[in-house]
Amino acid sequence: MAKNPGVFERFPASTVLIFNLVNLSVFACGIYLLYLIWPVLAVLFAVYIAAMESMVYREGCRNCWYYGKRCMSGRGCLAKMFMKKGDPKKFSEKDVSAKAFIPSSLISVVPVIAGIYLFLQGFDFVLLGIGVWPIIVMFLGNPVIYGELSCPHCKQSELGCPVSEFFMKKAKKKK
Ligand code: SF4
Repeated sequence: MAKNPGVFERFPASTVLIFNLVNLSVFACGIYLLYLIWPVLAVLFAVYIAAMESMVYREGCRNCWYYGKRCMSGRGCLAKMFMKKGDPKKFSEKDVSAKAFIPSSLISVVPVIAGIYLFLQGFDFVLLGIGVWPIIVMFLGNPVIYGELSCPHCKQSELGCPVSEFFMKKAKKKK
């Protein structure tokens, strides 16, 4: 297969930085708002985020072409530090449906519910804004991060990635 000049074998540090800053900002919004409601909820939410992250490593990164390499999130490098390389075949065999995104989308939905709850308790617009930020990321940020900065340049997407195929199909339907 001729080398595709648009595909990055090592993603630019700027993409990794943008990806992680946006992701961490969403996590922080949820943890902060839930802390204001009840600190125990904030701890539970942080545990939930950690569980989702570990699922990405276990089901994705260990089998990914970027295992041990710098992918758009940097997880490829981290995966090599704490888990054995998996089977690349398993990566593209995975079936991805809209239902599969429900657990990870909760990380964006929970802060909104918390923001609305706090707003109805008489808190200010700033908190509502913090609650809405994850949804802005979901509908405006992610299409840019995945649709422009990541998937078009991703070697795994070129080899077969059910997630990018899912979004590509969705994008095609929209056209
Ligand atoms: S591209 Fe995705 S699956 Fe592959 S190592 Fe990076 S985060 Fe993990």
